[in-house]
Amino acid sequence: MSELPILTSYIDGHFINSDTHFDNINPVNGQTVARISEATPKMIEDAVISARAAQDSTWGKMTVNERCALLHKVADRMAEREEEFITAEITDTGKSLFQVKTIDIPRGTANFRFFADLAKFNSGETFITDTPTGDKALNYSVNKPLGVVGVISPWNLPLLLATWKIAPAMACGNSVILKPSEETSSTAFLLAKVMDEVGIPKGAFNLILGRGSAVGDALTSHHGIDAITFTGASSTGKQIMRSVAERVKPISFELGGKNSAIVFADADLNKAIKGVTRSSFTNCGQVCLCTEKVYVHRSLFDAFIQGLKREAEQIKIGYPKDKDVFIGPLVSKVHQQKVLSYYQLAKNEGATFVTGGGVPKFNDERDMGCFIEPTIITGLSDDARVNQEEIFGPICHVSPFDDEDEVIERVNNTDYGLAASVWTENISRAHRVSPQLDVGLVWVNTWFLRDLRAPFGGVKLSGIGREGGKHSLAFYSEPVNICVHI
Ligand code: NAD
Repeated sequence: MSELPILTSYIDGHFINSDTHFDNINPVNGQTVARISEATPKMIEDAVISARAAQDSTWGKMTVNERCALLHKVADRMAEREEEFITAEITDTGKSLFQVKTIDIPRGTANFRFFADLAKFNSGETFITDTPTGDKALNYSVNKPLGVVGVISPWNLPLLLATWKIAPAMACGNSVILKPSEETSSTAFLLAKVMDEVGIPKGAFNLILGRGSAVGDALTSHHGIDAITFTGASSTGKQIMRSVAERVKPISFELGGKNSAIVFADADLNKAIKGVTRSSFTNCGQVCLCTEKVYVHRSLFDAFIQGLKREAEQIKIGYPKDKDVFIGPLVSKVHQQKVLSYYQLAKNEGATFVTGGGVPKFNDERDMGCFIEPTIITGLSDDARVNQEEIFGPICHVSPFDDEDEVIERVNNTDYGLAASVWTENISRAHRVSPQLDVGLVWVNTWFLRDLRAPFGGVKLSGIGREGGKHSLAFYSEPVNICVHI
């Protein structure tokens, strides 16, 4: 058997192995494809020292134009190595080639280009102030980097979500220490290679690999880290909040969701069925924005269920690179067991299964993987656990509703508040309902259509703050106000 590749951390411009390794598993067939070297406490310490040194010398001293030219080179090199990024992402996650090729990897590259261009416009504010003595003062602010930013990213859109934070943080002049999910380290490792190849000064970008409870916690609690930007589960967000409290570090949190779709009586039924199929089952339900609850006006309920069932049953599940495959497996056995436990809970809570509920059988190596059936259920109350807890798999519960106020109240009946989608052909209704939903993002007659300039984030348990466009620049910089008596 050939030697398995080893993915290592990247610290102070060097790829560094350690004595502790764990397996990187391909969720398509359960095979080990690489070994991941877990960063030691000393390596984390070295990463922080190196990131700080880059602030005080190279990266921190560059002009915004010099920095952003280098970040464009990162994007160029990522584009040149696109096939390797695609293969790495598919091997770690099992997601379909179509998705990786059209979303994950191009968006990763686009994040660097977009924020490299935007950071040049990171201007401050000016005010002429009248003083009590009749003089004037000039107040102006300048934006400085925060310093060393810890980036902690999840496994569901690994490269896309890591670069969504790394790119603006670096464009604003910060040094970054990235801790990707232990489930999906491969594209982060490749990104470190790219940073090295294009000549990002040592220490400006560091990668530390390892498990959240060990490496992630050591990073967030380190006194040398100036801010933490985190995407992941709400429960992990709570732990990180405790850990940064000691130093009152700035945090940006993009957390879990329990997102609803509302299909009004005046919706284009076909469009809504196709849209909800996509919003419930894309990436095997593993997008924080995925729909897990669907409210359908009673007049359309039966037709909608029939249509959604038909679409769900036509979804092609299989090898990520096979033609027309829409979804591959879930990310891991642990996650498959978690989602299956919710399928079981739905049964225990009395749900009716319209389709799905189990594991597909292939009679080949894929039966050792983490596949799962797209599932539609009905018949549960809004307070059922299945309708309150984030499942993060390809499952949605569909309920009927009768009027607008009722459905708004039901959609808002959750501790989460990330996203919602509204399906209606009535433009007044769309504008009336959308702002009444307690979420950070509403899509009308579409889903997951993103503009990198627009604010992105959630309320309640779904997060703190917004990223995207000027919101990212605001988080990753520290404004200093200077007041000059004239
Ligand atoms: P997770 O919270 O388990 O892990 C996310 C990251 O945090 C990983 O890198 C992990 O190693 C690290 N981590 C775990 N424990 C830690 C600790 N104590 N200290 C520091 N770091 C720690 O999340 P996941 O399972 O990887 O991702 C799925 C979750 O992410 C879902 O809840 C999903 O909704 C959420 N998510 C949110 C968004 C958003 O934009 N709001 C986007 C994608 C995913």
